[in-house]
Amino acid sequence: MSFVQGLKCRECHHAFPAEALHVCEWCFGPLEVVYDYEAIAGATSRETIAAGPPSIWRYANLLPAVNDGAVDLGAGFTPLVRADRLAAELGLGELWLKNDTLNPTGSFKDRVVSVALARARAMGFKVAACASTGNLANSVAAHAARAGMRHVVFIPADLEAGKVVTTAVYGPTLIAVDGSYDDVNRLCAELASEQPTWAFVNVNLRTYYAEGSKTLAFETAEQLGWEAPDHVVVPVGSGSQLTKIARGFRELYKVGLLDEEPHVRISGAQAEGCSPVATAFNEGHDYIRPVKPKTIAKSLAIGNPADGPYALDEVKRSGGGLEAVSDSEIVDSMLLLARTEGIFAETAGGVTIATLARLAAKGVVRSDERVVAYITGAGLKTIEAVAPVCRPTATIAPTMDAFAAAFEGVEG
Ligand SMILES: *Cc1c(COP(=O)(O)O)cnc(C)c1O
Ligand SMILES: [Zn+2]
Repeated sequence: MSFVQGLKCRECHHAFPAEALHVCEWCFGPLEVVYDYEAIAGATSRETIAAGPPSIWRYANLLPAVNDGAVDLGAGFTPLVRADRLAAELGLGELWLKNDTLNPTGSFKDRVVSVALARARAMGFKVAACASTGNLANSVAAHAARAGMRHVVFIPADLEAGKVVTTAVYGPTLIAVDGSYDDVNRLCAELASEQPTWAFVNVNLRTYYAEGSKTLAFETAEQLGWEAPDHVVVPVGSGSQLTKIARGFRELYKVGLLDEEPHVRISGAQAEGCSPVATAFNEGHDYIRPVKPKTIAKSLAIGNPADGPYALDEVKRSGGGLEAVSDSEIVDSMLLLARTEGIFAETAGGVTIATLARLAAKGVVRSDERVVAYITGAGLKTIEAVAPVCRPTATIAPTMDAFAAAFEGVEG
């Protein structure tokens, strides 16, 4: 059973029925899902959640869809691991990593896609579609294949080879567009109005899709023994994930799953080559000036972020920070994370850890805080970012002498 009451404009608060709408007819503001929190509180406890499946669907009462199994690949309930070695390197105290590299297609996008396509199927859509910076393409293709839906996936033509292959393998109609993600997204917005029978997960289904990211907050609190952390660091592309993590912690309190009202400081991570939200924060204005992206962190390369103003607002209101890090800091941080904690993240993970390091050095993230960093995608899909610096230590002949000589060289 779903506890959705309808949709509501985030700007003018006009109410709409729970259909495939994503912008307000009155002011073009984005819409969000309205729930019956009293009914959810009555039907949901820590025990009912613990009795649910080890996936995002244990929180189905707080999502705009029910899981009929058709689009379920097991997204979510990823490990929250204590990261003492990394914390020591960064001068931090209690640091945790939410390891979303371990989702079915290797990124947090499985959370949002699973919710969006479950909802789309319930609404009768037969075709799944999306505009993607890479990980969304993987996830839509995999979940649509699982559900037996047709899928049409749009990507920028310059995407990493790994992300093209890991999308194409599921058999979508895969359209590479000569242009940036923002060009792809604009094309898909036009197509969505031409093709009302296609479920573009991040266009006409965006209101439902975005709700899947709340599970990152839900799981974090449950895994911390039903407590909220003091500070979280979240990568920012469209800004949807950050906004929904903030909302997720608030909802847990609203339905009685947290005893104390959480005051989670939220910090955002961007790459220097695409940092419209961090720039607005650091220059002190509240509008987002679109940019033309140029960064190795392609999964975050959105020059005109739809939820940018809302992400900025959450960061400011919570007393967090926003930083933009360079490509070389991203690579160094991917290596640091792998070397200290055994987690190989994609470039977005490098952005998050590099930002965490900056914020720790500035004293924005403090050593007396319980900190959670969201590691949202797996490294194998962006292997070219670290390939130049990840080489054999030595290449030798198959003899004891050759090994001894080489080993002396590296140890000496
Ligand atoms: C899409 C993506 C993000 C950004 O999420 P938004 O909701 O667009 O801000 C972060 N990390 C990875 C790995 C992604 O694929
Ligand atoms: Zn409105």
